[in-house]
Amino acid sequence: MDPRFEKYAKLLIDVGINVQPGQTLVISCPVDKAEFARMLVSEAYRAGAREVVMRWNDQFISRERYLHAADEIFDTCRPWQADMLNTLAREGAAFLSVISADPDGMNGIDHSRTVRENRVFGPAVAEFREAQMSDKVQWCIAALPEKNWAKKMFPGCAGDEAMKKLRDAICKTMRIEADNDPVEAWRKHNEALNARKKKLTEFNFKSLHYTNSLGTDLTIELPEGHYWEGGNSASSKGVYFNANMPTEEIFTAPRRDGVNGKAVSTKPFVIGGEIIDRFAFTFESGKIVNIETEDPKHKKMLEDEITVDDGARYLGEVALVPYDSPISNMNMLFYDTLFDENASCHLAFGASYPTIRGGADMTTEQRAAAGLNQSITHEDFMVGSADLSIVGTTHDGRRIPVFVEGNFAF
Ligand code: ZN
Ligand code: ZN
Repeated sequence: MDPRFEKYAKLLIDVGINVQPGQTLVISCPVDKAEFARMLVSEAYRAGAREVVMRWNDQFISRERYLHAADEIFDTCRPWQADMLNTLAREGAAFLSVISADPDGMNGIDHSRTVRENRVFGPAVAEFREAQMSDKVQWCIAALPEKNWAKKMFPGCAGDEAMKKLRDAICKTMRIEADNDPVEAWRKHNEALNARKKKLTEFNFKSLHYTNSLGTDLTIELPEGHYWEGGNSASSKGVYFNANMPTEEIFTAPRRDGVNGKAVSTKPFVIGGEIIDRFAFTFESGKIVNIETEDPKHKKMLEDEITVDDGARYLGEVALVPYDSPISNMNMLFYDTLFDENASCHLAFGASYPTIRGGADMTTEQRAAAGLNQSITHEDFMVGSADLSIVGTTHDGRRIPVFVEGNFAF
């Protein structure tokens, strides 16, 4: 095991999830990363975890299921499956997910099966999803290298060399060096992100206007009382954690019906193993009314995604990432949103995080009334480019540059 990964395990437990003495921790991890999972478990008990509950997964087995299981199972959710997650969320457990997958590992599966499964699982695990989306409990997602993923990212390299490059790339994004203290590096990083989100919140923009040479010309209104999130967040018990590692973004929620114009994607969108290189969404009063793609098959796939439920057609996230962010400067396509979203300004269709004052304690109806979108889905897509301009308009009509030439103007 690469000694940097011992630091990585400690970083995830102490900073990513920040498990508290007496708290239950749920870890999801692929079976072939058991060695790393064991380190996480040891670190968690060292930090005082009450119990670590393991949830193992395996991409090959998942793929076999999507390919060969009886069709009707994708329309059913056994009550105990949902109950397990809902119960753990209710008892205040923290949720750490380690992902490590072949980006092409789900190629060829029937995409409608995953859509149908989401339709039945989404509502069944609503309590668990709500605990995460509103940061009631700590949660964290991070990634480990995988050999086919490495080959895809570094196609010219032999297997071992590609894996080494991917390990190096992940350590770099995680601010882990052979001789540094990544916990301290993340303390500074979180501080910098916190300063920026405070400034954006103080502007209290009424709307943001995006333009670039690719054809993006989009106005996004922001709800009353919105605030910007980013870096670490506090759970309802005041425990700080980093929900995504790595992270470089500052984000908030748009007004559900306040999005108008066109957004052109700038990085591939990976969906059910398929890579959609370029697409554009046109919005009217918040709703996606037109999809443009190069391949008609991709248009159908995007249509399936945005019709999962009523809210899937509306935006749920507005995220700002400088074009020269450290991950963007690595100039690598990771084929994974966890990394690629940190290299580009992005938007997400589907559910919003309740980033308005008092939002975490609001009912679903109150959130909807405040202009927040709700959905069982949440999918990021990238719109940042080297020439992206974003101008914010305040409630008293001042126009303030937020992004100039792809980067923060302040
Ligand atoms: Zn985001
Ligand atoms: Zn997102």
